[in-house]
Amino acid sequence: MPRPISVRIHPEAVRHNLQTAQQSASGARVWAVVKANAYGHGIERIYPALAGADGIALLDLDEAVRVRQLGWTKPILLLEGVFDSTDVATAVAHRLTVSVHDDEQLALLAAARTQQPIDINLKMNSGMNRLGYRPDVFRAAWERARATPTIGTIGLMTHFANADDGAIDWQLDRFDAATQGIPGERSLSNSAAVLWHPNAHRDWVRPGTILYGASPTGAARHIEGIGLRAAMTLASRIIGVQTLAPQETVGYGRTYEAERPMRIGVVACGYADGYPRHAPTGTPIVVDGIRTRVVGRVSMDMLTVDLTPCPDAGIGSKVELWGENVKVDEVAEAAGTIGYELMCAVARRVPVDIDTLKAAQHEAAESATV
Ligand SMILES: *Cc1c(COP(=O)(O)O)cnc(C)c1O
Repeated sequence: MPRPISVRIHPEAVRHNLQTAQQSASGARVWAVVKANAYGHGIERIYPALAGADGIALLDLDEAVRVRQLGWTKPILLLEGVFDSTDVATAVAHRLTVSVHDDEQLALLAAARTQQPIDINLKMNSGMNRLGYRPDVFRAAWERARATPTIGTIGLMTHFANADDGAIDWQLDRFDAATQGIPGERSLSNSAAVLWHPNAHRDWVRPGTILYGASPTGAARHIEGIGLRAAMTLASRIIGVQTLAPQETVGYGRTYEAERPMRIGVVACGYADGYPRHAPTGTPIVVDGIRTRVVGRVSMDMLTVDLTPCPDAGIGSKVELWGENVKVDEVAEAAGTIGYELMCAVARRVPVDIDTLKAAQHEAAESATV
């Protein structure tokens, strides 16, 4: 029998969250962001739930090709564009829309051998200072792109540095000033801006993390009441129980000491499964449907939980590490990171189950996009 751990993927939740994003940014078209193998969920596993999106955005070419092979005929946006001429050929062959953030990329596209011009999103560095043309040279870059015969339609994009904690206007103002009078569809908003900055919605939005039910800020409380659903449940079972006397400790480093007699459950999940080793005593976890806490240090293949609130729990009891009842962001916050990182880091050794997407609703979602 395999270890009792598994990760369950819920495409239905992704479809629901996509609809929530669409309602939040009504009027804008949606690039569903599926980079990093759909934030760890598996592109193929959640693909049927994306039927209602207007485009799919990602950055690895092999992922783009996989999406085309799945039958996607709508646009695909390469968020970091092309890196060499082979990439250009792949972009041409699969009709990819490519981001362009510098002159090297413009030159690669200018040298493309293609009858069919390549659509691009010209990227402005409006203050994030990762990729893109600075505002003062953006217009000139656009002129060069427009004069390039192998380039087709030109969208205008930028990315926010802190849409999650409120301040975007400084970037928005730079973007608007530097693009004034330039035609083309605008794409600015990540998940945080989709939820909280309607003035940035414009023509296309680019939600990622909210499609998977996680919080753009990394704090579960910030998305309470929005109705997003967890797209991933990491679950396992209790494989051992210990009864501790007062002053006895549990696990490596003896970081947790019992104050009174207590039962400890040993869960088949550790950092080699992708559970964060930094999750301290007190990190929330659910046993037999009851919230309790991790105690002691997370080890490679196991972690230990306080069974005080769940006296009926024992070997075989179900454990939810994260999912609908304990949010991935709650675990992440306790461990000093964000849900994004945990979702992306579930280990290969964890077996995956996939919920089936209800067929009737699937058809409804598809016909709604026609
Ligand atoms: C990852 C990414 C997004 C999506 O960000 P979320 O915070 O997950 O919504 C949008 N745009 C670009 C350019 C990205 O790299």
